[in-house]
Amino acid sequence: MPISMPASISGIHHVTAIATDPQRTLDFYTRVLGLRLAKLTVNYDDPGTYHFYFGDELGRPGTILTFFPWPHAPRGRRGSDQVTAIAFSVPARALDFWAARLAEHGLAVAEPVTRFGDRIISFPDPDGLPLELVAASERDARPGWPAGPIVLEHAIRGFAGATLTVADDVPTAALLTETLGFRLTAREGERARFAVGAGAPGARVEVVRAPRARRGVVAAGTVHHIAWRTPDSEQQLAWRDILRARGLDVTPVRDRRYFHSIYFYEPGGILFEIATDPPGFATDEPPEALGTHLMLPPWLEPRRAALEGTLPPLVLPTSPF
Ligand code: ZN
Repeated sequence: MPISMPASISGIHHVTAIATDPQRTLDFYTRVLGLRLAKLTVNYDDPGTYHFYFGDELGRPGTILTFFPWPHAPRGRRGSDQVTAIAFSVPARALDFWAARLAEHGLAVAEPVTRFGDRIISFPDPDGLPLELVAASERDARPGWPAGPIVLEHAIRGFAGATLTVADDVPTAALLTETLGFRLTAREGERARFAVGAGAPGARVEVVRAPRARRGVVAAGTVHHIAWRTPDSEQQLAWRDILRARGLDVTPVRDRRYFHSIYFYEPGGILFEIATDPPGFATDEPPEALGTHLMLPPWLEPRRAALEGTLPPLVLPTSPF
């Protein structure tokens, strides 16, 4: 049977990173950056560990940064063959507000730089994970979290993009452009920008060629994987066939409850995932209650009491509204 070609992937679905202290991570992303805790659950492959999903008001695809907080995780090493920065999109005039706010919270904020025409500030999260705020030259029409703690004229709208650092950029660029549907839109030195669709914030990724960099080690303060969006399970299965036909070792579909996932390593060694947009986070609790309770999948419900007894206690963000 011929392989039906899915539409190109439609941008970043989520990024998953590794943290140490659960409470510190929760406080930083909700109170300092003003993201919503869109789901509080556990790592399905390691249910003694939380899985936090931060995002916009509904945790829409393209806004979701997720964490496995392992209190005793060793510190990772940022380097090649890794996602080395996560960029959030903020309104054009919000950078001064953010620079002041982040400095007030004791973060080391770098002087703004201009990259591909966008103004950018960068800073590490409490575990050293490199983050960027990008004041895009064009308007970002996404809603963010209108009821969140940061006024909407400054609030994060979702991802702008991410930086992939690889020793050899050629095979990674080829996968992005020849298979996943990205196009090269700009190049500055060793950094190239790729986009899909209209190339809006969240539908971009940058690849940095770093042949002499040390190889990164995935642990605390680094990205574990980056997931790309596909609209439904049918297209996800088509992706699986296409990637396998290109010689990539792709996992079977895994049910992550809020989306379905397949995983594979891109040629530079970075773990990629393709995740479905549906069903989303309102599948097991109402939109207004997202993130207010520990949600477990049905197969872990029988273990709830034991898990709640071993997971570190958390003070959840209280809605200020
Ligand atoms: Zn994932």
